[in-house]
Amino acid sequence: MTDNGTPNKLIIIGSGPAGLTAAIYAARSQLHPLVIDGMQPGGQLTTTSDVENFPGFARGISGPELMNIMREQAERFGTEFEFDEVTEVDLSKRPFAITLSGGDVYRADAVIIASGASARYLGLESERRLIGKGVSACATCDGFFFKGKEIAVVGGGDSALEEAIYLTHFASKVSVIHRRDALRGSLIMQKRALTNEKIVFVWNSVVEDVLANPETGKVGGLRLKNVKDGGITEYPVEGLFVAIGHDPNTKVFAGQLDMDQKGYIVTHDGTKTSVPGVFAAGDVQDHVYRQAITAAGSGCMAAIDAERFLGEE
Ligand code: NAP
Repeated sequence: MTDNGTPNKLIIIGSGPAGLTAAIYAARSQLHPLVIDGMQPGGQLTTTSDVENFPGFARGISGPELMNIMREQAERFGTEFEFDEVTEVDLSKRPFAITLSGGDVYRADAVIIASGASARYLGLESERRLIGKGVSACATCDGFFFKGKEIAVVGGGDSALEEAIYLTHFASKVSVIHRRDALRGSLIMQKRALTNEKIVFVWNSVVEDVLANPETGKVGGLRLKNVKDGGITEYPVEGLFVAIGHDPNTKVFAGQLDMDQKGYIVTHDGTKTSVPGVFAAGDVQDHVYRQAITAAGSGCMAAIDAERFLGEE
């Protein structure tokens, strides 16, 4: 274990829109922030295809490209990055201690937590076993492997609709399996999905089991249950994309910060957490809006809050 000597003024955990916006602001305020990337630098947007609603990009921009630009902007003002994952934190005293998976320990006078959220899975044993063999939670990562195939997306929110639409570029047919008979996604996404000739909807249905094709060992179908009449059907597909929402990445902070029942960090007076000097921004503390622009906005707020906190000392 290496202790990296003099404490940083500010460590930012996470490199999605919240973390990188916090880094841009903090770096411009001479706080010399260190960003711990996490295992998915750029965060969830790097698995998104077109971002059409981030102001400033009238013709849209791809998620990875947007994150590259933000990163470049943060680097331009002197942000440093550490490509590693946080495995342990000690927020009981200052300077706060942050241990990375490689064993290095970093200390900081202030911390901004922007560790985001991760895709949720259904929790079926068969689903877990077939991840990478036809089960995925990322259409932009894995859609290419389903050229000309019939696949399914489970979920009824914007993520499911976006994934379904994106997957029609590859698949011959995309079935959206939703547990209700009304979609949760925004009206514009609903309209696009409902009018897409390659997309069909399987309403009031849940996936009971993911079935493997005995010859290939990969996904061969789904066992579906109709929640209205209890009917069970086997539905042949070669892929299943799970898009049923997200869980906050807060395990490592458990017991050290106030969290709500779902594990989201509770903030007050802007981005302050229950520990003075620790701030939270983006999806890790927001289960309501969860947009790139709101994450970026709260990242900006967290940097300003951290700067004021450090300045008052
Ligand atoms: P979400 O809005 O929470 O939707 C999750 C969907 O999954 C819901 O339809 C839900 O069904 C279903 N679901 C949840 N648990 C399930 C389970 N165990 N089994 C079966 N179905 C389950 O999550 P999201 O779609 O990831 O979107 C999150 C946020 O990001 C939203 O604010 C969304 O607007 C935003 N977003 C925006 C865009 C865009 O603007 N292009 C793209 C992606 C995401 P119920 O409806 O019955 O609850």
